[in-house]
Amino acid sequence: MECAIDPSPCRPDIASHEIDDGYSEIALVEATCGGRLTIDLGAIVRNYQALTAQAPGARVAAVVKADAYGLGAGRVAPVLAAVGCDTFFVAQVQEGIDLRRDLPMARIFVLNGAAPGAEAACLAHRLEPVLNGWDALEAWSRAARIAGFRGPCAVQFDTGMARFGFARSDAERLSARIAQSDMTVGLVMSHLACADTPGDPANPAQRDAIMALRPIFPRAAFSLAASSGIFLGSSYHLDLVRPGAALYGVSPVPGNANPMAPVVRLESRVVQVRTVPGGTGIGYGHAARAPGPMRLATLAVGYADGFPRSLSGRGSAWLHGLRLPVVGRVSMDSIVVDVSRAPDGTVAYGDFLDLIGPANGVDGVGKEAGTIGYEVLTSLGRRYARRYLG
Ligand SMILES: *Cc1c(COP(=O)(O)O)cnc(C)c1O
Repeated sequence: MECAIDPSPCRPDIASHEIDDGYSEIALVEATCGGRLTIDLGAIVRNYQALTAQAPGARVAAVVKADAYGLGAGRVAPVLAAVGCDTFFVAQVQEGIDLRRDLPMARIFVLNGAAPGAEAACLAHRLEPVLNGWDALEAWSRAARIAGFRGPCAVQFDTGMARFGFARSDAERLSARIAQSDMTVGLVMSHLACADTPGDPANPAQRDAIMALRPIFPRAAFSLAASSGIFLGSSYHLDLVRPGAALYGVSPVPGNANPMAPVVRLESRVVQVRTVPGGTGIGYGHAARAPGPMRLATLAVGYADGFPRSLSGRGSAWLHGLRLPVVGRVSMDSIVVDVSRAPDGTVAYGDFLDLIGPANGVDGVGKEAGTIGYEVLTSLGRRYARRYLG
């Protein structure tokens, strides 16, 4: 497996030669950072292919908004393009401008649409804003006319989430309005509110609502399902599916075995190991107190790195399969874990322990923190030494 180090998020100033104390550049970058984040691009490709197999009748786009959920859109998107993904979604125009540099050929949709004044930038970078309402449609139509652009446009309908999109009752008028313009409707999309709850009656209701629009836009491609929607069955796949989280290893079927390959491993450096007597107050506010003699390890990752402060007193580090509980409060740059149960010599100065890994993935950490795997990923900090595999 190829291993490439990307020193830039951590230490852009490191010389690209062996340092004369014998440490390689990679070891030095890792030594200068409190945590090591490994992102398995091969696993992202396998997840893309698994989703393609799950939705065989549909085109599979990739959602790479928020810097590919924190994993680096500039690294993730080209790898997906190389295995045949030709359609990408971002949330913001600036993300699309950045992505266009890495993907000269792909179709790039902007989910939040173009804010007033951003239409010309979209046209210049061949970005397709999702038109979510009349104001956006008129502004886009005007900008497109001025630029001489006659291509297809993407429209979203609100089928039951009250977040983005035209009302379903707008459909006939929208179709007529676009027929008068130089544009055509290339994509009609909507988004499921409750796709991670398969039994929720909102799912078939939203599916039936978007299906009712098909005859009004007979030539458009239709899209409804994101990661979880793909697992609701083929009647949700329509022409195009738009997974994000599942590509990055988040389970699209919460409560069931995760069908996706894990993508992220986060390890933290052991800065210090000590034994404290019973009664010792540990960390800020002495929020924890040692019930008896306790062996503690201090790790160099904290809430400034996106390790949630809500994990105070309830998060975990892992030594292979052995859980090492977080003791006391998560600090900005460090946490303290109880290593009393680790066999002697197995947790030492300079070692790495897993914070996200085989024993506890992004969904598990999200659960402990009272959030979801999505937020764990998108919170991953900028200070880690990042390694990309595959
Ligand atoms: C974020 C998003 C997606 C991807 O969702 P996942 O649950 O991460 O697969 C798809 N469509 C829209 C409209 C989104 O906002």
